Amino acid sequence: MKLKFCGATRTVTGSCFYLDTGDFKFLVDCGAFQGKDEIDMLNYEPFPFDPSQLDAVFLTHAHFDHSGRIPILVKQGFKGRIICTQPTRDLSMVILSDAAKLQKEEYERWQARGKKDSEGKNLSAQGSLYEQRKPLFTEEDVENTLDLFDIYPYGSSVSIHKDVEFRMRDAGHILGSSIFEFWIKTKEGRDRRIVFSGDLGQPGARIVKDPDLIREADYVVCESTYGNRLHKSKDETVLEFLSILKKAQEDGANVLIPSFAIERTQEILYEINLFVENKILNNLEVYLDSPMASKATEVFKQYPTFYDEDARRLLEKGDDPFNFPGLITIDSAEESKRLISKKGVVIIAGSGMCTGGRIVHHIKNNIENPNTHMVFVGYQVDGTLGRRIVDKEKEINVMGQNLEVKAQIHTLGGFSAHGDQRDLRYWLRGFGHSPKKIFIVHGDEDIAIGFGTNIKSELGVDVDIPKLNEEFELK
Ligand SMILES: [Zn+2]
Ligand SMILES: [Zn+2]
Repeated sequence: MKLKFCGATRTVTGSCFYLDTGDFKFLVDCGAFQGKDEIDMLNYEPFPFDPSQLDAVFLTHAHFDHSGRIPILVKQGFKGRIICTQPTRDLSMVILSDAAKLQKEEYERWQARGKKDSEGKNLSAQGSLYEQRKPLFTEEDVENTLDLFDIYPYGSSVSIHKDVEFRMRDAGHILGSSIFEFWIKTKEGRDRRIVFSGDLGQPGARIVKDPDLIREADYVVCESTYGNRLHKSKDETVLEFLSILKKAQEDGANVLIPSFAIERTQEILYEINLFVENKILNNLEVYLDSPMASKATEVFKQYPTFYDEDARRLLEKGDDPFNFPGLITIDSAEESKRLISKKGVVIIAGSGMCTGGRIVHHIKNNIENPNTHMVFVGYQVDGTLGRRIVDKEKEINVMGQNLEVKAQIHTLGGFSAHGDQRDLRYWLRGFGHSPKKIFIVHGDEDIAIGFGTNIKSELGVDVDIPKLNEEFELK
């Protein structure tokens, strides 16, 4: 059987893995590339397989770097099934609809600016589709994917084809996220078991359960986002977050939190809810200025059976873990703009890496104020505005304007939805019999290679760090 790596190879984004058993062809994830121009451009390249010949897409979770090319796939003739959990389906629809809207707006702005990007540069790839900056898909394309979803629960093995059986396990990364296990009969009649980690969460994370350990596999495809580092402890992170909120409240200063709409925002709301309900913080005004995060929060509220014990216990006590006195949800762009006059408030807005969305105008209005606190609670891909701020660049360009970064910048590592090096190694050690091979994906090149080298010597297994569109024959 063939396994081809069509994304997230020596980079974090663009997860897309193609398997061909001879009789059944499928993908695990079909995500978008995100980041620098040359990475982003890859979304415009043709797929290295025929979408109309695919039988299924197994979707590990809703994040755009895992789901973002599904509408393109459907546009190009995919008629198979998309297999995932209920929250993954609902959150994917939120993410993909939002992406369609953003791309349309960005395209219109780009045309209005005389075909230059927000920093005034002409796009580099001469003559490519990327240069034309056409939206990858529309809201209608997104709607067309909805009928293709098939929902399954965690934990039960499903025979989807005479040669292919699968089972979803909890990946503990975001609500509904899955590890996929496959049992595949090869042409030669051998039974092979392949496991895709998806994105693996941090044990002990809020809301979601801990990642399931898998005992057996012949081949493992494993993420490595934080394969080179150890997160700060969760308690330390929460205390640091609390002291920032307290300091800002005393100073009458604003706190900006660029937040990913899915999971991270809910986790932040969850922590603030505990501060407020336990009277550790009083009279805190918090603005959730992200319609997408508000929609995602509604999805979270629908699926309490996916929560961990602590979150379920709050619900049983009658406390909504995502709501508290002082939380105000902002809908319209006008209301959002009116937040300019606010002082001493917390603003949670997207996008998580400051590449667009409402956080951008809040940055513009607040970043030159030395009292402002900007709190990063998630991974910032190289090349994004968020990364430039985190990397302490003194001057940034926002909406065509050069601004001096005077705000206090905080990076709270403990909120990560990804396990760190120790968590990933723990998960990989969970395989009772060492796999024949472990493929390391979903990490920046140096991190993936470094992590792969560690794993190889620790577990004594064959490790590979695939390159884009590299193909392997799995025997
Ligand atoms: Zn993810
Ligand atoms: Zn990912």
